Amino acid sequence: MKLHEYQSKFVFAGYGIPIPHGKIATTPQEAFEIAREIGQPVVIKAQVLVGGRGKAGGVKLARNPDEAEMYASAILGMNIKGLTVKKVLVDPAADIKTEIYLGVTTDRAARRSVMMASAAGGVDIEEVARSTPEKIVRIHIDPFLGLRDYQARDIACGIGLARQYWKEFIQIARALYRCYEENDASLAEINPLVITADDHLLALDGKMVLDDNGLFRHPQLAEMRDTDEEAPAEAQARQAGLSYVKLDGEIGCMVNGAGLAMTTMDMTKLFGGSPANFLDIGGGAKADKVATALRIILADPNVKSVLFNIFGGITRCDEVARGILEALQEVPTQVPMVVRLIGTNEEEGRAILADANMITAATLAEAAQKAVEAAKQYATERGEQS
Ligand code: GDP
Ligand code: MN
Repeated sequence: MKLHEYQSKFVFAGYGIPIPHGKIATTPQEAFEIAREIGQPVVIKAQVLVGGRGKAGGVKLARNPDEAEMYASAILGMNIKGLTVKKVLVDPAADIKTEIYLGVTTDRAARRSVMMASAAGGVDIEEVARSTPEKIVRIHIDPFLGLRDYQARDIACGIGLARQYWKEFIQIARALYRCYEENDASLAEINPLVITADDHLLALDGKMVLDDNGLFRHPQLAEMRDTDEEAPAEAQARQAGLSYVKLDGEIGCMVNGAGLAMTTMDMTKLFGGSPANFLDIGGGAKADKVATALRIILADPNVKSVLFNIFGGITRCDEVARGILEALQEVPTQVPMVVRLIGTNEEEGRAILADANMITAATLAEAAQKAVEAAKQYATERGEQS
């Protein structure tokens, strides 16, 4: 689950990280009022759950309340990378000397959390990582020791930060790590962390991604979920208890078990395709759950074939087959479907699907190959590029 900038900064502030104290507006008039209360230049910032708002025109500096109102009315309703802006943050504008990047995330390969920092902070850290990776300093953190002061000093030194800022920087770095760790985050990021004209550090932008599996421990964070801002398919899937992640390939994947789902996705790649999603329908899924999952997969216009890979253990193959038929009645489709059912009640499952015009396969390799071929054929028939 992603938090908005204003939510992330609110959480950061709870750990003592200095932030600008602005407010949220949902109308241009509110933005005007807030700017008047603040009584100095403000920034109007689109609150959408994507990065790069600045470049998309979603961050504007307003010198007075009238400008604040004008920019708010331009930004509210704006579409940024497919999401509609419904809220803007009105923050007192900062006078910036330098923009630093500071973030913590999980480094799976190292099996540790890693803190990253760069003097080349600001709008495009991904570009810095690509073109000049040496400008990013990385420090791995021992989970039992946390971020030590000497490590924070190493980071400060590594990015060439002048000594006078070290004390504040170390406090912020340690606070950010604690905030990440205590809230079960997978990312906590400040970009930019700025040096202001009066020589203090200030977190101007904030981003947090929380691990959904840890959310039950943080009810006050779980409440911050903004369902307006989620991809509708992901919200639907979550409500149905399905683990679904949308991807940009063309092969819809319906699988039980996360590991099997990953393998299935890899197999589509092996045969020259690419997965449209990750989907784990979970153990013991019943027909209605399968139907919901299929609706979600078919709602994606990129999907050109669907690959079912079901291992019937607790999940029974006949239930899955019934779910497929149920869904097909509700959502008639031309998209070809390849089914590999194996395990508990597989004969019954296959018998149910026998009349349903599906492509069957005995092994996963065969199924993946057929799904890729079927997708290509489907695309060609429609004169699309495959
Ligand atoms: P993002 O583009 O979504 O990452 O949004 P940010 O909040 O990081 O803002 C993008 C850029 O706008 C920052 O890197 C700054 O250069 C600029 N910016 C944001 N807030 C302020 C501010 O208070 N004062 C000034 N002068 N510039 C700001
Ligand atoms: Mn930013």
